[in-house]
Amino acid sequence: MADCDILIIGAGPAGLSAAGYAARLGYKAIAIDALSPGGQLLYIDQIENYPGSPSVSGYELAESLEKQAVSFGAEIRFTEALSIKKEGNLFITETSDGPISSLSVIYAAGAHHRKLGCTGEEEYQAKGVSYCATCDGPFFKGGRVAVVGGGDTALTDALYLSKLCSDVYIIHRRTEFRGQKMLEDRVRAKENIHLELGKNVISINGDGKKVTSVTLSDSTELSVDGVFIFVGMEPNSRMLEGFADLDHGFVSSDDHMRTSVPGLFVAGDVRTTPFRQVVTAAGDGAMAAHAADEYIQGI
Ligand SMILES: Cc1cc2nc3c(=O)[nH]c(=O)nc-3n(C[C@H](O)[C@H](O)[C@H](O)COP(=O)(O)OP(=O)(O)OC[C@H]3O[C@@H](n4cnc5c(N)ncnc54)[C@H](O)[C@@H]3O)c2cc1C
Repeated sequence: MADCDILIIGAGPAGLSAAGYAARLGYKAIAIDALSPGGQLLYIDQIENYPGSPSVSGYELAESLEKQAVSFGAEIRFTEALSIKKEGNLFITETSDGPISSLSVIYAAGAHHRKLGCTGEEEYQAKGVSYCATCDGPFFKGGRVAVVGGGDTALTDALYLSKLCSDVYIIHRRTEFRGQKMLEDRVRAKENIHLELGKNVISINGDGKKVTSVTLSDSTELSVDGVFIFVGMEPNSRMLEGFADLDHGFVSSDDHMRTSVPGLFVAGDVRTTPFRQVVTAAGDGAMAAHAADEYIQGI
């Protein structure tokens, strides 16, 4: 007899959505989180692009997702998943509070943005330093912003920001971009995108309340209102290494959120997906719960 039907690892938007859907389907669903439920939502001041909530704080949205999941009968526990194995049809997840057995597992442990590690980055987070142009670009309408990075995300988001902002400075430590040539050509053709190649950001400066400039490795000081950092994302997938198929650390899945291990599903930022947002994570969670239902009915 398993401890629960569906164990959800991670209680961010993907995990809480999965937990709510699974419990509403009548399953005993437990969502575990090493920190507080809400995941990255807890770092978001205001979310303007979650459908149906024109402007909501990340904390409020996290609280309402948690309440809704619990109201359907899901249980939320504060514990960290450490390892996972499958014995017959049973998954055994080792946690910091002991093992939890389940018929199915939905892995929703999220990801985190790689940091630059320069002076001022931490201090000015949410005061001009951002890791998401879709999320925060509209706050800088008409302003001057820096984009740090040279891959597809940096180039795509620089193009997006160039429609909103008066000037966009792309700062990249190499003299060549890593992104697609087609994106690079578009970037180079934009009059309000300026390239600062072969340079690093030494510090992000401000007046204590907001960003005012960045200092580059050649001592240039660029006056900017915001700094968008796109130097990669790190998936929280270490415990699945050697257990499920990963692609650059992200968990490989199909449209049904099925992984390479039958009964193990994935949802949200930790999976191979072209778009990482609250709404897409919540959608993945719903799909993963639906797929777990189909799987359990078949075993
Ligand atoms: C500053 C910032 C601003 C953003 N702004 C927006 C915005 O305006 N709009 C938008 O749509 N998106 C925004 N995003 C992106 C959005 O927050 C993410 O896409 C979304 O939270 C992903 O949800 P998730 O559930 O997949 O992962 P996460 O939110 O990362 O949640 C994963 C959870 O899993 C837990 N966990 C990890 N490993 C374990 C483990 N081993 N055991 C137990 N628990 C574990 C973590 O503690 C965490 O709570 C922003 C992100 C950031 C950082």
